[in-house]
Amino acid sequence: MQDTTKQARAMNDQIVQWRRALHQIPELGFETPRTEQFILERLSTFGVDEIRHGNGKRGIVALIKGGKPGKVLGIRADYDALNMTEDTGLPFASTNGNMHACGHDAHAAILLATTKILAENKKDLQGTVKLLFQPSEENGKGAPAMIEDGVLDAPALDGIIGLHTGNLWKGVTAGEAGYRFGAIMAAADWFTVTFNGKGGHGATPHLTVDPVTMACQAVSAMQLIVSRETSPLESGVVTVGTIQGGTMPNIIAPSCTIAGTLRSLSPETRKKLGERVREICEGTAKTLGGTADVSFTYGPPPLINDKAMTEKLKAAMEDVLGADKVREVAEPTMGGEDMAFFQERVPGSFFFLPATFGDGRDYPHHHPKFDLNEEVFWIGAAVMAHFALTWQEVRPA
Ligand SMILES: [Zn+2]
Ligand SMILES: [Zn+2]
Repeated sequence: MQDTTKQARAMNDQIVQWRRALHQIPELGFETPRTEQFILERLSTFGVDEIRHGNGKRGIVALIKGGKPGKVLGIRADYDALNMTEDTGLPFASTNGNMHACGHDAHAAILLATTKILAENKKDLQGTVKLLFQPSEENGKGAPAMIEDGVLDAPALDGIIGLHTGNLWKGVTAGEAGYRFGAIMAAADWFTVTFNGKGGHGATPHLTVDPVTMACQAVSAMQLIVSRETSPLESGVVTVGTIQGGTMPNIIAPSCTIAGTLRSLSPETRKKLGERVREICEGTAKTLGGTADVSFTYGPPPLINDKAMTEKLKAAMEDVLGADKVREVAEPTMGGEDMAFFQERVPGSFFFLPATFGDGRDYPHHHPKFDLNEEVFWIGAAVMAHFALTWQEVRPA
């Protein structure tokens, strides 16, 4: 077997070049033709066994069939950008009003390098690797769309891995890699509740049914879901971000609408938060003589890393970097990530490739000055390629 770590390291300049090219053509959601063309042009030169794109299916899938029998591994990268004006002043900054401010340009470039390395080593590969290039992560729609298009079948995946670069988790810095057992990112759901009463004059409240008081009572009671009904060792967030009702101080409004977000790290808590928001809003409205219309928009489920897959990933990281550069991510973030839709169905592990500078150039994700330390890109490709070549080996415990 060739030394894939060496191969990946030697490809860093190439990955940087690809990343900068993608950085200059940021596209949104599913409207990503130039990005896809760029990826397809590269993929077609690597000697992969099959490229699936178009015919009404979202994203790009490449297959590498190994020289030995074995399982099917998915490796996923997203490639969509954000609708915001870049302010990095970089020579390769975008000028089209969109920006790669989350690092998905690097994710795609790193997966291209991973693909090239695996195609070159395919005689040593056990089973099949399916490379998933995914659009529309930022709105959480890309992964479910690809699942709907059948990406998890033919051949069916036995496992999946992926990474996020940037500075999402603390305590792991550039040159290292971060793994985490269990939950690493949160479920992110949204709710809207309209309280309906009976409007009237502010001076005759007894002749009305006041939806503003219903909303106020419900918002207060909802704060007890996490503080009184959820284990102190479990994480949850109930945030009401907007409340809208009424037009003048002396009018009792006929309706009042609130909207908010729910975050959770387990399917059980996620289910409970939603159920209790509904019960509290409907119950409060009923008690006060009105009604409540409750609706939810479901985002990604919690992103939960499989134990066995994470153990194997950690071992691959240690092979590539040495144990002293491999760190456990201490805490999950309450942000969402649509990789969770894949890992809900297939055992997987999502890991952190920090690309920090350690100085004033580190800005939060989705910031107009967000940038990445490009020196670490090869680590992502090395870990994923090495994982694909070794994950089916039985290692001594
Ligand atoms: Zn993002
Ligand atoms: Zn992202």
